[in-house]
Parts: sequence; C-alpha cells; structure tokens
Amino acid sequence: MRSFALAFAVAAALVSAVEARRADGAPVEPKVANAVAFPAPERVAGLLGQRLDLWRHVRLWRVANDPFLLEGFERRPGKHPWQGEHVGKWLHAASMAEAATGDKKLDEKIREVAARLIATQEPNGYLGTYAPQERFYEKLSTGDPTTWDVWTQRYVIYGLLAYYDLHHDPAALEACKKAGDLLLKCFGPPDGDITRFGTRKGLSAAVLLQSIVRLYEHTGDPRYLDFARHITACIEKNPGLRIAAAMRDGEDVTVCGDGKAYQLMSVLLGYVELYRVTGDKVYLQTAVTAWERISGEHINIAGGPWSYQAKATTNQECFAAVEYFHPTNCIETCSTTTWIQLSLALFELTGEARYADAAETAVFNQLLGAQSPNGNDWAYHSMLNMPARGYEDEITCCASSGPRALELYARDLVGTTSDGLVINSYVPSAVTFDHDAGATGRVVIEGNYPLAAEAMIRLKLAKPATFAIDFRLPAGAKSLAVDVDGVQQASEQTAKGFYRVRREWKPADAISVKFEFPLRARFQTASDGLRWAAFSWGPLALAQSLVAQTDQPQNVLAVEKESPDGSRWLEAFRAVKKKAAQTSDASEELDTRKSADGAASQSVLPTWRLKTPRKAILAPYYQAGGATAGVRTMFPTRQPVAAAPVASPVKKSSP
Ligand SMILES: [Zn+2]
Repeated sequence: MRSFALAFAVAAALVSAVEARRADGAPVEPKVANAVAFPAPERVAGLLGQRLDLWRHVRLWRVANDPFLLEGFERRPGKHPWQGEHVGKWLHAASMAEAATGDKKLDEKIREVAARLIATQEPNGYLGTYAPQERFYEKLSTGDPTTWDVWTQRYVIYGLLAYYDLHHDPAALEACKKAGDLLLKCFGPPDGDITRFGTRKGLSAAVLLQSIVRLYEHTGDPRYLDFARHITACIEKNPGLRIAAAMRDGEDVTVCGDGKAYQLMSVLLGYVELYRVTGDKVYLQTAVTAWERISGEHINIAGGPWSYQAKATTNQECFAAVEYFHPTNCIETCSTTTWIQLSLALFELTGEARYADAAETAVFNQLLGAQSPNGNDWAYHSMLNMPARGYEDEITCCASSGPRALELYARDLVGTTSDGLVINSYVPSAVTFDHDAGATGRVVIEGNYPLAAEAMIRLKLAKPATFAIDFRLPAGAKSLAVDVDGVQQASEQTAKGFYRVRREWKPADAISVKFEFPLRARFQTASDGLRWAAFSWGPLALAQSLVAQTDQPQNVLAVEKESPDGSRWLEAFRAVKKKAAQTSDASEELDTRKSADGAASQSVLPTWRLKTPRKAILAPYYQAGGATAGVRTMFPTRQPVAAAPVASPVKKSSP
C-alpha cells in the first residue's frame, strides 16, 4: 500500500501545479511552495458559517444592486476619490462566495459586473474612475501625492484576477494585462517611481505591488516581475517608506508611510507574494519582521490592529507607539481585514501556528464585532470601549473589506501538508481531500466552537492509513486533549507549534478534542496613565453591553495584585437566553446558530460577571453592544500608575 505521507506529498504538488496553471501563457512555478494547502470546505457552519451566510445573502446583494458600484467607471468621473476600489473588493469576495456555494444567481451577477467593468476600459488600458486630466498618467512630470487613482488600479486588477481564477474568462485577464501595461509604462523601470503618487509618502500607490505580482503569476510575463521588484526598489529609495531597511534596522512600523496601518499591511502582502515567486529572502524577512512588530505592540485583546493620531502629520488610522494605547483607540475594519489576510498568507507559506492564532483572534473578535448581526451593516471604526457599534449601511472601504476576511478565513480551516492533515480551526465544517486516489478522505467537524471548548472530528477514509494530524491549540487555550474512539492519544508539539498525533487512522475514526479555555486577565497602562484590565476566555475577548442612553457608571476594578488569572475578578453567570440579551442586537444569533449537521444548537452563550463592585455581565466581545448599545472591554483599575499622561484619548477626525 502506498504510504499516506507520499500521497499527501503528491497532493501538495498537484495543488502547486493547479495554481501554476491559472496563468495563460507560460505557467509560473512558485519558487517556494506553501507549507499548507487548503482544499475548499464543502460546508462551514456554526458561528463562522452563520456570519458568512449573512454576508452572502444580505450585504453581497445590497452592494451588487447599488449603482455606486460601477457608475464611477461608466459615467466618469466618480463621485468619491476611492470609489473605484469597491468593485474590485466585491469581485474578490463574491468570487470566493460563488466558489464556496456554487450559487447560480451569483454566477450570473459576477459575470455581469465583470463584463460591465471591462467594457469601460479605455484604449490605452486605463480602468479607473477619474476625469481625463486627473488621471495618473497625465501627472507623470509632477507626481501627485494626493491621488487615489493608482489605488483603484490595485483593486480592479486584484478583483478581476480573482474573478478570472474562478471563471477563466480571457477578457478579464486581457483587461488586467492592458491595465498593467499602462502602469508599467508610467511607473516601471528604469525611471518610473510609483511612490511619487498616493498619500502617506506613496504608500497608498505602492499597494499595487501585490496585484502586479499576481499578474506575473497569471501570465508568466517577466516584465511584470521586473516591475514588482522595481516597486520595492522605489520603496527603499523613498526616505518616507524604506520598509525593508526600517525593519532590518529595528525601527517600528510607525515610521514607514506614517505607519498607515491598512496600506502598510497591504504592501506587506505584496512582499509575501513576491517571496513565493522569487525565493528572495529579503521580502519574507521584511514581512515577518513587520508582522512581529505589529503582533508585539499594536494588537489589542480583540486581535485588532489599533491605531491613533499621535502626530499632526498622521491620522487616527496610523500605527502609534505603544504609550499611546487607550481602550478608545480606533481599529479600522480595513486594517483588521488586512491583518487577517497577512497572517493567513504567512500561515499558508510557513505552516507556523502563531500566524493562525493571530488570524483566529482577529476574526472571532474584532472582525465579527464590526459586522452587524442584521447582515447588512458594517462598522468603519471600532474600539474596545465605544458608545455604540457604529454600524452603517453605506458602501465604505471597510464595509467592502470585511467580507473578504470572512471568506478568506473560511478557506483555511483544514489543510494538508507533506506529513498529513492540519486542523487549523474547529468550527463546524466538512472538507474533502480528493487530490489523489490513495489520499481520498473527508473530515467532518461538529460542535459549537469557539463558543464551546471542544469539537468532534469525524474522519472518513477509503481505507486505513498512517499519517499525522496536527491539531492547533486555539488562541488563548491552555491545553488540548485528543481522544480517538474513547482512547486518549499522546501528542507531540511540533516546531511549528502544532500538537501532532501520528498513527494508523481507521476509515471512520471519531476524534474528540477538548480544550481548556482559562479565564485570563490582561493589564495594560494606557495613555491616560491608568492601568486598565481586560478579560478573555480562550480565543474570545469578553465585553459588557451598554445601552447608550442609560450607560451604567464605569466599573473600577479593585486590584491588589495583578494576575493573569481572570477568575479572581470574574465568576460564571447563568447562560444568557434570548430574552435576557435584549441590550444586544446580536440576540437573534442565539436562535439561529446551527451545528454542522444543520440542527439548532443549544442556545447557550458563555457569560461571566464581574464580582465587584457592580456585577456587570460579560459576554464575547463580538456580540456585545449594537447599533444603539455600547461596548466596554477594558475596565480601569483602582491603582493608577504614577506616570503622567502622554496623550488624551481618541479624537475623532475624518480618515
Ligand atoms: Zn476602511
């Protein structure tokens, strides 16, 4: 019998070949293969599945049917500087939704949107929303640090390539090549400099990098690879950007392009992709170092990349030094999305659990908190402590970004490596492996993760096979116990941070996985000089719901000695049923949550309450608050630190 490990290696090689075949023209073989390949799940249920359904059935169509999506192209000029990004983001997210669901109506709509967009391309390749005299190619002699025209090109190419991956419509690839050629002519080697365009020292134009690398992957045209390398050279020559040099020299992410969080992480996505196609380690090191800096000091307990206007020259969406941290700092949903995207890209590439942990925390807290449970609205800016969720119906950058993170995350649940399977997430799902006859199998995950600290994993194999299953310890979890058909299994921690069980698996093995989700307390000194406390349970940050008009007085925690043990301040509370959760717009979720087999799960939400002085109820952050209800995630403690305040709390400014 062929070994399962060999079969998985063959499967991984086939995945690479499929990726390479996306290109028409010379196929591009990535120099570095991803460590983990993720087959598309057949089904995703539970909390994640419910939130995906909300986007796929409500928000997706609200945007698709809004004339704003295409009218900037069809009747130029557009009304808003970055109006052109929405169609690219929509094509990206909607293509992933169609790939997951096979929805025929959506298939028709995507084809229509792509065809209408492509029809607006000018003979010179221009595919944007600007008036003729305002376009980037009219301003080559002067540059234009305020334009969003190049930004639009980034998303249009990105979205059309996502559509092409699904539909193989040659018109889409042709349109991308024409748009790419115009950009190459204006910004390519030897003398073009894309960083003379776009806000934040050109960072908003340099985001084009990832789309150009993807264009190279799809065409095999070496001119695009040279162009991509040239963009990174221009970044290094620009004293306001120099991302690789700044990361190498130990500087913080606050220095590159004013530390504009969303744009910087978008450019880093390009570095990861450029590493895959070139094998040039400097691109990977730059992305990894930046990821580590962000992870170290710029991520809050909800997994969100927080930002703050620390200088007159920056704004509230820029990374700021850690002393500016405050519970009312802003988290832009575009930043949350791009942080998830960057973490997943590094996870796929390296197979390291730390990246998956970061993505999980951001998805189940900051991202879901920004999506209204009504399925339509999204928040632009979120905070740990905020007077209302700020959900809005409007088509904004953030409302167009958020769904992409949901779809991307849902593709990375159960993967294969050369050693076997990787269980990244325990959300209810079903994933089939059919790359190779010897490796045919299916994994069905049941339960209510992450709202329950356990899951049942059912294997369905054609025949017994020996391979490894790598289980990820959920973010914030303390331990993991694996049982196969009632027998406890010894696991071994891998260098990449997973817990490996290697054995001969039977065709219908049932694997029970139980975690310990401790209540954890996290303390941080904020910019007001106070010590603030926040709590989490496994991967879920906890927060109190507040009704705006009758906001309860702020709880001040008595803390004699700080401890990571959250049970010193929290005690279990009875499960909140629908009626009791009326301050939250999310209460409907309690009745609609479904398990993997479609049956309604127990309507039980994990909740705790503060022991003193006022017994506030804490529930998962993502479902605390609402359109008219506030969120309180951090609580001031009684002993202020003697340091003087360095900054006042958040000020509202336009992005
Ligand atoms: Zn945004």
